[in-house]
Amino acid sequence: MKETYLGVDVSPLTYEQIIASLRERMSENEQSTIIAVNPEKVITANKDEQVKQLINSSTFQIADGVGILLASKLQKGRITSRVTGVDMMARLLTFAASEGHPVYFYGAKEEVVTKAIANIKEANPGLVVAGYTNGYEKDEQALVRRIHESGARLLFVALGSPKQELWIQRNMPNVPNVLVFQGVGGSFDVFSG
Ligand code: UDP
Repeated sequence: MKETYLGVDVSPLTYEQIIASLRERMSENEQSTIIAVNPEKVITANKDEQVKQLINSSTFQIADGVGILLASKLQKGRITSRVTGVDMMARLLTFAASEGHPVYFYGAKEEVVTKAIANIKEANPGLVVAGYTNGYEKDEQALVRRIHESGARLLFVALGSPKQELWIQRNMPNVPNVLVFQGVGGSFDVFSG
């Protein structure tokens, strides 16, 4: 059962439970989206119906930020530990490497995304990188075609919020072979460091 803060859903699932659910959904060819929720996003969503809809229509709203834990505690909820966007991405990379799912990286500056991929490959031998594109690509149609043809099963989009979530919502139907989408904000910058 999801918990709700000012009308915004947050999932109480742990990293392991989310990965188990994704594995099952992937086996059924179902697309899934992961969005990180923090108090700032809850406040924005409370004022902006489109942002709220974007969050609530995601498959997994993860509790990034201690503010959500505090809110859960006050409501006697079940969310007791953070599920951060960057750690979720790290665990998904381990999962993708161990199960042979190709991964595509879209976003950040060219030198950031290439350095991030180099570090990620070093940490995850065997990871199949289907491709990457920096976050300043203008031709969305060409990019979508490239992702579609890459054979990617997981896609990380690092454009900042809500740009990345809007991109995912708009393009999901055009890349039916991609089954897991995560908007990861500044995470490529973290992996590149
Ligand atoms: N970015 C991008 N294209 C854009 C705007 C931003 O690729 O048009 C990248 C930017 O280079 C950075 C990331 O998106 O790597 C934004 O990270 P930020 O920490 O601002 O996102 P947040 O986590 O705050 O949503």
